[in-house]
Amino acid sequence: MTTATHLARAGASRPWAAAAAVAAAAGLVAGLLATPRLGPWWTERSLPRGQRPAVLLVTLDATRADRLGCYGYAQAKTPAADELARQGVLFEQAYVAAPLCLPSHATILTGRWPAGHGVRDENDVLGATVPTLAEQFRAAGYRTAAFVGTSSVDQSRGLGRGFDVYQDDFGPPGKRPGAYERGAASVVVDQALAWLETIDNRPLFLWVHLADSMAPHNLREAMAKDFEGRPYDGEVTAVDGHMGRLVTGVRRRFPQTLVAALADHGESLGDHGEDTFGYFLYSATTRVPFLLSMPGRLPSGRRVAPVVRTADLAPTLLDLVGLPAPPALDGASLVPLPVGSENSSATFGFAAASSAFFG
Ligand SMILES: [Zn+2]
Repeated sequence: MTTATHLARAGASRPWAAAAAVAAAAGLVAGLLATPRLGPWWTERSLPRGQRPAVLLVTLDATRADRLGCYGYAQAKTPAADELARQGVLFEQAYVAAPLCLPSHATILTGRWPAGHGVRDENDVLGATVPTLAEQFRAAGYRTAAFVGTSSVDQSRGLGRGFDVYQDDFGPPGKRPGAYERGAASVVVDQALAWLETIDNRPLFLWVHLADSMAPHNLREAMAKDFEGRPYDGEVTAVDGHMGRLVTGVRRRFPQTLVAALADHGESLGDHGEDTFGYFLYSATTRVPFLLSMPGRLPSGRRVAPVVRTADLAPTLLDLVGLPAPPALDGASLVPLPVGSENSSATFGFAAASSAFFG
């Protein structure tokens, strides 16, 4: 369990409502009046009436925040993530709901804790009645597509609901129940970029999952020389490069694109006696990178210190594009934070480990 002070719960689904919520909170929270306010910032940077930005969600599997340059790792070679941070918002303390691929992705894609979406370990299936982020976007007229990199988040897990396209076919030898299959990040991004060339200009919600940083940590020979003794760093670098290609390709096609990049969990790399992830709840696996970027609409180079949760991602994306969030989410919109409208009200983060691992 991770506890934390937290932020204003905007609870707002449209720009005017978000502004109203922040204004109301200002009357209750000492010190808030001295901070920048959401209203003017939002109004100035709104898209022309009726336009909706494209939204690109990149989930970086098994990626520790402290291995990215923008999070202070001096040995990092992560120019794509660093550029997103330079031109956007970096959340310094972002925590997952569970250090496991499927439950964590279910939280990212629903805004609910595992108890709310029903996915507590890697073999569960998302409840059929739980509203998803993709459904919200599709209901608003968005084209929705997902390109994923492991069978742990394939359509059989229920995450495909709301997506018009869900690419989870990794080719021969076919699905192997009980074992991960991988699609290389290079291939997943190639597939997504090729698909982009086939669609029209309808607003797009695209989720791309890149999983090359998961164990076992093997590097191609060409990279091994540069990352001798640090194969994980090399994998993170490789994934970062593919994310960079993806962001560039999507923004070339959709210049107004909101980009969110975050991890489903970290990787222990031997910390606390854990090699990978899923057993313990130390920050090696529960603290993750979390970046938002939309030049001209989100502040640039903003670093947000208060604790946030990956459960906040879904309501935040919906808030940023002016769409309503489903009721009773566990996450809350982070929109007030980039402009400094944080308060001191206490809330909590949450992270769960599956009891299946402990007998
Ligand atoms: Zn994962």
